[in-house]
Amino acid sequence: SPPAIAIGIDVGTSGARAAALSETGEVVAFAAAPFEGADETRTPAAWWRRVSECLRALGEQVSLATVEGLAVDGTSGTVLSIDAAGQPLGVMMYNEPCSDRSIVERIAAVAPAESPACGANSGLARALHLLSLTPDACVVHQADWIALQLGVAGPVTDENNALKTGYDLTDERWPDWIAEAGLSPDRLPIVVRAGTPVGRLGDTGRIFGLSPYCRIHAGTTDGCASFLATGANRIGDGVTALGSTLVLKLASAHPVSASKFGIYAHRILDFWLVGGASNTGGAVIRALVGDDKLEELTARLDPDTPTGLDYYPLLKPGERFPVNDPDYPPRLAPRPSDEAVFFQGLLEGMTAIEKRGYDLLEELGSGKLRSVRTVGGGARNAAWTCMRQEALGVDFLPARSVEAAVGTASLVLARRSI
Ligand code: ADP
Repeated sequence: SPPAIAIGIDVGTSGARAAALSETGEVVAFAAAPFEGADETRTPAAWWRRVSECLRALGEQVSLATVEGLAVDGTSGTVLSIDAAGQPLGVMMYNEPCSDRSIVERIAAVAPAESPACGANSGLARALHLLSLTPDACVVHQADWIALQLGVAGPVTDENNALKTGYDLTDERWPDWIAEAGLSPDRLPIVVRAGTPVGRLGDTGRIFGLSPYCRIHAGTTDGCASFLATGANRIGDGVTALGSTLVLKLASAHPVSASKFGIYAHRILDFWLVGGASNTGGAVIRALVGDDKLEELTARLDPDTPTGLDYYPLLKPGERFPVNDPDYPPRLAPRPSDEAVFFQGLLEGMTAIEKRGYDLLEELGSGKLRSVRTVGGGARNAAWTCMRQEALGVDFLPARSVEAAVGTASLVLARRSI
């Protein structure tokens, strides 16, 4: 196989993964080390142990001596407090809301209303919560802490991880209002654009058969990395995830944001990554039809004969994107006696929501959708793909990979000449 020149490391919710790419973007080695038990998911030492396992496993597949650079992506919104030596003092995971109302109110009082740092689920709320426990600590994101273990000299992060911690992408600095909310910027990492070289491995490299001169690049979030993993990298490229929920992402020429729809723009490569998540998706299919019947029902779909059922498939009232209404009702009646027709109605409903989602992004200023790559369980359904192609009217392209680690490695490749 061609020599490995870039590595991406993904620290997710289920474990660590690493991918080595050749100059042409071919995956020449891949390794996964799952977390054992829920405790490991929230234990920094376990993250590092699993990352180390992945790097060792890559080294057993290919020589890593030729690797020029690596980067790390982590779960967006997971933050740690660390002492001056980088030792973790506390962790708050991406899915743990800040329970301290006064912190959330303090942010709301000073942050712009549209800021992604607003709310109990922002990285900033978690950071302030951790600092209320250990006021002298610094705060870093999950990926930043792994980069520290790899050899970066001090806390550094990327714009993608920093977005929900309140970073200002226009002024390219931590805004003044963060200090007013109670967080001094000197407690936060330095921020650079995703993919920027920030250090070298030094002695850490030797442990894994990597060169000590191998560059460490600023990483990104798991969400941005998953987008890049598919191979999407040009303005107008869209990625639809048909998993438990329906998630759309689009490479936009402009930084569209609309907090009421949950839309924020990440700057990555030479575009803005925008998107939204609907509550519709495979979970509705699973609950109302059952995954065991999908094969039989899929064979009986008839995309050329629309059902006209006009469903809005939700499991319970409430939608964020592309409709913002906490009470938005599911629309699932009437239910025809033929299960295949019902199933087709669900798929048609989700297709309409996908179309409306991309249209909404365009109305908000993203520019036109030009191509779609599809990931998630629903990508396997060829008849559904036909229905979606018909509705969206753009090229459907194969997804290169669904591994965030591959996306992060491709970010390194794209930034190697900087
Ligand atoms: P998750 O978001 O949980 O990771 P996956 O990407 O694995 O989910 O997708 C699983 C979902 O895809 C399930 O909810 C299932 O109902 C749906 N699904 C699987 N196969 C098909 C199919 N052939 N047609 C439509 N939906 C499917």
